[in-house]
Amino acid sequence: MTSWVVTARGLSLSYNGRPPVLCDLDLRVASGEFFMIIGPNGSGKTSLLRLLAGLIAPEAGQVEILAKPLTSWPRRHLAQRLAVVPQQLPQDFPFTVAETVLMGRAPHLGLLDVEGESDRELARAAMHFTDVTRLADRRLDQLSEGERQRVVIARALCQEPEILMLDEPTSSLDPAHQIQIMDLLSRLRAERGVTVIMVSHDLNLAALYGDRLLLIDRGRTVLCGSPAEVLTAERLSVCYGCTILVDTHGLGGLPRVTPLPASYGGHVVPAEEPSGRRGS
Ligand code: ADP
Repeated sequence: MTSWVVTARGLSLSYNGRPPVLCDLDLRVASGEFFMIIGPNGSGKTSLLRLLAGLIAPEAGQVEILAKPLTSWPRRHLAQRLAVVPQQLPQDFPFTVAETVLMGRAPHLGLLDVEGESDRELARAAMHFTDVTRLADRRLDQLSEGERQRVVIARALCQEPEILMLDEPTSSLDPAHQIQIMDLLSRLRAERGVTVIMVSHDLNLAALYGDRLLLIDRGRTVLCGSPAEVLTAERLSVCYGCTILVDTHGLGGLPRVTPLPASYGGHVVPAEEPSGRRGS
């Protein structure tokens, strides 16, 4: 029987009485799944992840983490099971890599406890896993974006979570660093059974790594399924408001997504154009 570690029902959200950014959204994520949330800019991906992590509260609906309502989890207990890697990394953060990673142990320590040898060992293992050991004594603000991203993931690993939620962890990285982070998350899932829930705007990474993709548009679910089910040319062209070609490449017949430039017959429909494809 499938064990669902995250379940959401009827989630709705609006900010400051403005029109809703999420409407009646349902989802469930299985234990050990690599689940990716995709959709156009402003479709509500980050808001959804923040709701699932309990960082904001929905206007309606409910989230369950490990079969228990999110609202009934004490914050510290939740942080022992669920780690979040936010989109914005601290720029001015006066701590070394080793100190930052060790902070991941905080939810497991009592109020007046200091980290012990076993905590430091876990931090070392997390740094090794993410290949940042050689950076241990460097300050976070002296690192490249890719290095900093790996450190923040190491801090999350040091938390020993069962569920890891990440918001576009590869958005500012070059292809080598993107693949490095994605492979690392895959290993984490394969070797430790961690459930990964990730927001991404990169449809090709979603095709390569996601077990299931949730495509949302203007706060509503368009479709949830395998990459081949979700990533179709017609559906993506409507959601993203531009001509998108989807073919399959040699890698196990996975979909490959190419937005078409005007010189190849591509056409962009501005989101606000009421008679455009997005409105149809
Ligand atoms: P995505 O991650 O898909 O780009 P977001 O969840 O960031 O989408 O944003 C969805 C909508 O909610 C956007 O219109 C955005 O402007 C709005 N929004 C996001 N965060 C806030 C906030 N803190 N206050 C007001 N509006 C917000």
